[in-house]
Amino acid sequence: MVRGKFVSLTCILVTFVGVTFWSAWSNDRAFTELVRYTQLSAWSLAQLELELQGFQEGLTLYRSGHLDGRELNKRYDLAWNRLDIFLNGEEASAIRARFGAADKVGHIFSLIKQHEPDVVSPQRDSPALGQLAAGLGEAMPAIRSLMVENFTGQSAIRQRASLLQSRQDNLWLLSALLLVGLVMLYMLSRETRRHQFLAWNDPLTLLPNRAAFIRQLEQEARRHGNQGRPLTLCLIELNHFKEVNDSLGYASGDALLVKVARAMASFIAGRAYLARIGGDEFALYCFEPLAPEWPDSLLAHLQQLVFEADPAHRVKVSMGLSQSRVSQHQVEEIMLFADIALDNARQQGGRSQLFNQAMLSRYERSRQLAAELRDQLNGAGADQLSLHYQPIIKRERHVLGAEALLRWQHPEYGFINPADIVSLADDNGLGERLGEWIFDRVNRDLMPMAPERLTQLEVSINLSGSMFNEALPSRVARMLLASPLCADQLILELTETIALDDLKLSQHILSALQQLNVRIALDDFGTGWSSFSYLKELHFNKIKIDKSFIQQIDSHPRQQLFVSSITDLAHKLGVPVVAEGVETAAELAEVYELGADEIQGYFYARPMAAADFRAFCQRYLAHQPQAMAQMG
Ligand code: C2E
Ligand code: CA
Ligand code: CA
Repeated sequence: MVRGKFVSLTCILVTFVGVTFWSAWSNDRAFTELVRYTQLSAWSLAQLELELQGFQEGLTLYRSGHLDGRELNKRYDLAWNRLDIFLNGEEASAIRARFGAADKVGHIFSLIKQHEPDVVSPQRDSPALGQLAAGLGEAMPAIRSLMVENFTGQSAIRQRASLLQSRQDNLWLLSALLLVGLVMLYMLSRETRRHQFLAWNDPLTLLPNRAAFIRQLEQEARRHGNQGRPLTLCLIELNHFKEVNDSLGYASGDALLVKVARAMASFIAGRAYLARIGGDEFALYCFEPLAPEWPDSLLAHLQQLVFEADPAHRVKVSMGLSQSRVSQHQVEEIMLFADIALDNARQQGGRSQLFNQAMLSRYERSRQLAAELRDQLNGAGADQLSLHYQPIIKRERHVLGAEALLRWQHPEYGFINPADIVSLADDNGLGERLGEWIFDRVNRDLMPMAPERLTQLEVSINLSGSMFNEALPSRVARMLLASPLCADQLILELTETIALDDLKLSQHILSALQQLNVRIALDDFGTGWSSFSYLKELHFNKIKIDKSFIQQIDSHPRQQLFVSSITDLAHKLGVPVVAEGVETAAELAEVYELGADEIQGYFYARPMAAADFRAFCQRYLAHQPQAMAQMG
C-alpha cells in the first residue's frame, strides 16, 4: 500500500521533472533556431544589399561627376568584401544554400571582379562602367527576391508555422506540466491529511485515539473549567477481549470492536466525546449532566452486543466513571480516578463503578505497598518479609514435609494476606523477583539445620503466575546449586489457574522440572473449573485436596464421597494425596480412613517462623514417637 503510493509519487515526480526539462530544451531549440536563422540571414542579406546598393549608387554618382574615384573605390571594396563574406563566410552558409542564392550572388561577384580594372582606375565616360552599372541594375532584383523569398516566401511561412507549432507544443507541455503539478499537490495534500488523520485517529473504528482524546479533553477542560462545570469521564474496557481474537480470529475481534464503537457512538448521540484509547479500551467524556441511569444502560447494551459476538461469554464489559470539577482537579487526576474505578469494576467481573474516596485510598495503599515490596525484595530497610513453614505429616514418619508460606508483617497495616502480596508482586512486575527471594530465603532458613535432619525434609514452594515461565527450570536448577536441599526434596505447588493458558508450554515446563528430579504438586484441587481435565493433560507428583473439601468432612457424607473418589483416582494414577486444612482429630481420622497419604493442617501444626520450624523438625525427627504422642 505504502510502497504503491511511493512508486506512484516517484513516477509523478520523474514525469514532472522530465517534462520540465523537455519543455525547456524544446523552447531553447526553437528560439536558437529562430534567432540564428533570422539574425544571420537577415543581417547578411541586408548587408549585402546595402553595400551593393552603395556601390551601384556610387557608380551612378561617379559617372555623373558627383563622386570622386577614391570614394568609388572604397564602395567597390566594401561591396567586394561583402560578396566574399556572403559566398564564403560561415554565418551565411544557411542562406547561401537556399533559393539558388550562391549562384545569384556568385554571378554578381563575377561581374564585379570582371570590372575590377575599370573601377580601380576609373574613367567617367568609360563604356565598361556603363556595362557594369547595367549589369548591376539587372542583377540587383535577384538580391531583393532572395530577401522576399527568405522572409516572406513559402519557406518563411513554413518557418513561421513551425514556430507556431512549437509554441503550441510548448503550451500543451506546460499545461500538462501544470496538470501533473496539480495532481501531485492534490496527492500530497491527501497523503498529509491521511497522516494527520492517522496521527489522531484509530484506523479500525475511525474514532479519535488516546492522544486526540487527551488533547481535546484538555482544551475543553480549560474552556469549561472557569465555569465550574462538572466533567463526567468514563472508561470502558472489554476484559478478556484477547480470547475472542485467539479463539474466533482477528477478523472477528476487529468486527466486534467496530460494532462496539458504533453502538457507543449512536448511544451517546453526540452528547459526549468518544475515543478508542487502547486495544480493548474506549473512553468518553462530557461536560453535560447525564441521566443517572445511562452508565448501566450503556453497559447492558454493550454487554449484549459482546455476548452475541462471543457465545462463550468470556468477554466482560467493565466501566469506570469519575465525576469531578476541573476547577478542583487536573485532567490527569480525573483520568486516574476513572482508571481506578475501572480497576474496581474489572475486579468485580465486569460492571460499572463510580469512583469514590475509598477506592482512592485502596489504590494509594496498594501503590505504597508495591513500592515497599520492591524495597523489601531488594533488601532495603528493616526486614518485614519472611517465610513461615507449615509441617506436612507423611505416613512414613521418618520424613517430614513443609510448605513455605509468605508473611509480611507491615508496621502500618499489620498482617498482609499472602495471596495479596503475590498479586501485588505480579501486578507490579515483581513476580519473578519475589520468586527468587522465596527460593533464597528457603535456602537461608534451612541452612542452620543439621545435615542429618535436612535429608529427612521435603519443602513445598508455591509458584505464582509470573514465575511459571520457560525460565523457571533453569532458575530452579540455579537455586538448587545454592541450596542445602537436593532436587528430590523440593516440591513446587501449582494451582490450575496458573498453567491453564498454554497447556503445551505448561507440559514443557513441568517435564523440564521433573527431569531435574523436582516434584510438582497440584494445589487446591477441586476448587477450579477444570481440575480433572488438568489431571488428564499434565503429570503431577502430588495432589493437594483443597481445605474446603476437608473441613468438617467427618459429618458431611457428600464431602467424604468427593475425597474418596479423588483419592482413588489419584492412587490409580500413582499420585499421592495431601489433605489440606485438617483441624480436628475427627477430620484426621476421616481423611486417613479415606486414604489420604499426607496431612497438612492446624491439627498438627500451624505455619511457624523459620526458627520455630527448625526446632519442630528437631523434635519431630529426632524423637518421633514422643513428638507424635505430644501432638496427637
Ligand atoms: P495455599 O497454598 O493453599 O496454602 C495453604 C493455606 O492454608 C495457608 O494459608 C495456610 O495457613 C492455610 N492452612 C493450613 N492449614 C490450615 C487449617 O487447618 N485451617 C485453615 N483454615 N487454614 C489452614 P496462608 O498462609 O494464608 O496462604 C494463603 C494462600 O496464599 C496460599 O494458599 C497460597 O495460595 C498463597 N501463598 C502463601 N504463600 C505463598 C508464596 O510463598 N507464594 C505464592 N505464590 N503463594 C503463596
Ligand atoms: Ca500451596
Ligand atoms: Ca492449597
